Amino acid sequence: TRAAQPRRADRSKVYMADLESALHYSLRVEAGRPATLSGAQLAAFKCYVATLAKYFPGRPCVQSYLQTLDGWLRNWTEPELPRSALKEAVKNNQDASPPAVLPTNVTWVGCRGSEPHFRGYPCGLWTVFHLLTVQAAQGGPDKELPLEVLGTMRCYVKHFFGCQECAQHFEAMAAKSMDQVKGRDEAVLWLWSHHNEVNARLAGGDTEDPQFPKLQWPPPDMCPQCHKEERGVHTWDELAVLSFLKTFFSPGNIDLDYAV
Ligand code: FAD
Repeated sequence: TRAAQPRRADRSKVYMADLESALHYSLRVEAGRPATLSGAQLAAFKCYVATLAKYFPGRPCVQSYLQTLDGWLRNWTEPELPRSALKEAVKNNQDASPPAVLPTNVTWVGCRGSEPHFRGYPCGLWTVFHLLTVQAAQGGPDKELPLEVLGTMRCYVKHFFGCQECAQHFEAMAAKSMDQVKGRDEAVLWLWSHHNEVNARLAGGDTEDPQFPKLQWPPPDMCPQCHKEERGVHTWDELAVLSFLKTFFSPGNIDLDYAV
């Protein structure tokens, strides 16, 4: 069972509880809002689940859950998916072998805000997509399907992300430069640099948790080698950043504490 009051999270770790909470919220709450899914929205949902089934480094019960849901969606060939059918499909199946289970509670650990309205789901969703871009980069030839994960994220955010202003901002950034990404490593760096662009825009604003100020990430104390100075001007060492991201968002850096 999960501790009622998690100890202070270690910011050098990724927490499985955050990842699973974000998946639960996206698949069962956010995607369950429209009365029916069809057209581009249904395609975006299928694509999201297929990408998760392929790359999410989950516990066996969660991998089984994602594979089952992906298989079910592939068999759904009708143009409309009513909410009632989706609600059934996203349920757990304890009796399957292996059990297909994604926990149905929301527990934020690394993404826990100092107040309930801070952090949480948006933080979890960023974490999921960083992790997926890294898994895709570890998993296959660099030049093959470079936009597989970024394209999935773009569609998911556009069609489902509850914060519409966020979705518009993200779509504007994507429209500007996402198509120029030519490799899977570049995709990892695209998401990192655009997340930093968002951090810079939001720094000091009213959605910022005062206890978690928006930084250009990773800060020097987390990754000294990521930072350099050229003629007194700060720049990033992108090779060092890529290698940092690949270690930070790796299965070995996911803390399983608090995952039920
Ligand atoms: P987050 O920014 O959510 O980051 C989560 C975790 O990721 C951090 O704790 C850190 O471990 C890691 N991280 C931080 N930066 C990076 C990076 N550059 N690369 C890799 N990992 C990193 N909010 C708004 O108010 N307006 C918006 O327009 C807006 N647009 C958004 C668009 C998207 C697609 C998403 C997913 C969220 C958006 N949000 C927006 C929410 C906002 O970006 C934060 O998620 C939210 O404010 C919570 O911030 P946080 O401090 O938990 O850290």
